[in-house]
Amino acid sequence: MSIQVKNLTKTYGSQKALTSITFETQSNHIIGFLGPNGAGKSTTMKILAGILPADQGECLINGINIRLESIKAKQTIGYLPENNPLYMDMYVQEILTFEANLHRIPNPKNRIQQVISLTGLTQEKHKRVHQLSKGYKQRVGLAMAIIHDPKILILDEPTSGLDPNQILEIRALIKELSKNKTVLLSTHIMQEVEILCDEIIVLDKGILKDHFLKSDAAIRF
Ligand code: ADP
Ligand code: ADP
Repeated sequence: MSIQVKNLTKTYGSQKALTSITFETQSNHIIGFLGPNGAGKSTTMKILAGILPADQGECLINGINIRLESIKAKQTIGYLPENNPLYMDMYVQEILTFEANLHRIPNPKNRIQQVISLTGLTQEKHKRVHQLSKGYKQRVGLAMAIIHDPKILILDEPTSGLDPNQILEIRALIKELSKNKTVLLSTHIMQEVEILCDEIIVLDKGILKDHFLKSDAAIRF
């Protein structure tokens, strides 16, 4: 499924966050959303995830307009916010049950066990979130994001704040989870897009600076 963004504009008070951003990704790619802090990456992702209204412009997920068909769009999208807020006193399995219920997943028990296994949380499922390392908390965030088997994954700085080992593990997990999905992943680390991504979109100060396939990147880097 492709992500299409047309003339997206967003201002917070007098602070311009996005100025008429337009792009269309390919299907089943990992797309790196690259840019420094304040570039507008989180703002774009929040709009795509349907939790922040844009001032102007449209976002289409395989042709589904996220503003006009928000319920349908939300079934298609999984979102991992930056600094994902988790209920620290809840058990891993309990959080996933809660998330599965939010999505009204039929026969949730099977899906929860499947997702626990996919994200490498089998040993942790009976632990409380506060007992987990940052890397494992991020696995919980990814498990929550994929519980309804979305075809599009929006991951906001998924490796930020992790130590080098955890970064490698989470990158490998994202690669694994990205099979048959379109993944938009934000980062300010160039190396991360080189390692993980098929396609790169560069944003700076709310303006789209570049958009290219990694296979064409030799000319750019
Ligand atoms: P990035 O994710 O690339 O760091 P953001 O989308 O978070 O960028 O921010 C884009 C711009 O919008 C920045 O200048 C930021 O300070 C501003 N901004 C983001 N969220 C808010 C907010 N809730 N209120 C005011 N300004 C905001
Ligand atoms: P990012 O830039 O990656 O979104 P931040 O640490 O800048 O991360 O933002 C954390 C939170 O604060 C976000 O919810 C963002 O919308 C909000 N925020 C960012 N910049 C501002 C700002 N200038 N004024 C108010 N809220 C902001």
